[in-house]
Amino acid sequence: MILDGKSLAAQIEQELKGKVQNAALATILVGDDPSSATYVKMKGNACKRVGLESLPVLLPASTTTQQLLAKIKELNENLLVKGILLQHPVPKHIDERKCFDAIAIAKDVDGVTSLGFGLMSMGERAYGSATPKGIITLLEHYKIPLEGKHAVVVGRSAILGKPMAAMLLNKNCTVTICHSKTQNLPNIIGQADIVVGAVGIPEFIKTQWLKSGVVAIDAGYHNTPNGAVGDIQKEGLETISSAYTPVPGGVGPMTIATLIQQTVESAKWT
Ligand code: NAP
Repeated sequence: MILDGKSLAAQIEQELKGKVQNAALATILVGDDPSSATYVKMKGNACKRVGLESLPVLLPASTTTQQLLAKIKELNENLLVKGILLQHPVPKHIDERKCFDAIAIAKDVDGVTSLGFGLMSMGERAYGSATPKGIITLLEHYKIPLEGKHAVVVGRSAILGKPMAAMLLNKNCTVTICHSKTQNLPNIIGQADIVVGAVGIPEFIKTQWLKSGVVAIDAGYHNTPNGAVGDIQKEGLETISSAYTPVPGGVGPMTIATLIQQTVESAKWT
């Protein structure tokens, strides 16, 4: 089964259309990384499709932590702005964690603050980190059984691997988190009922490591001369898995739909 994020994201957008007025998502892009610029543009376009305003904030790569914090403070106080997206990664000299944590919790529609992460982990109300939340929405839409299943998350970043593991745990999965220091990785991945590739290395997870019938979720996206690939090897995936997310058209569109969904929710509450 193909877990079609593209069509589910379109359906979610359709349902959100016209739900709110006079509400904006502020998108902050620091520097001129072309992939980040593309992601921010796609998020802005998705806002417009559902009737949200998009407030793009473009800052030069030389922006300091203090300057970025000042901009976030300004957006926190702007009543039109219902959600704030700070595109990851920011240039290395900026304290990204400090800037994420400066976003008001009510406007943390991308789920990046430490407070939001803590609340979500405790099962309390908070906006989830957009990519893992989108993955959970996709799994639930396709009625993939989660309870009691062994989920192996490969990657432990603050915006993807860690919140993914917490969300799957909250859904009663038994969760293993793997990272660059993990030993016997193929062996651990081979035990997974559900595997999440969040490594950032093209086709790093080999299909020969996977258990037959696995549900394979690929958060990775890489442009290669042979087309787009994810973090999980494409060849053989359709045969070995019971369900998988395609690249492109799986996790990526769900990330954007989740961001928009959470912004609309914020606009309704504030
Ligand atoms: P990241 O911050 O670079 O984290 C990568 C993780 O992979 C780290 O935890 C790292 O371990 C682990 N890792 C690296 N090499 C490994 C190895 N050899 N064996 C096992 N684990 C290894 O990346 P990210 O931001 O989480 O993103 C991961 C992927 O998801 C990327 O392909 C990115 O493009 C994609 N992504 C997609 C979306 C979307 O909207 N679709 C959104 C965000 C990210 P250590 O912690 O030990 O270094």
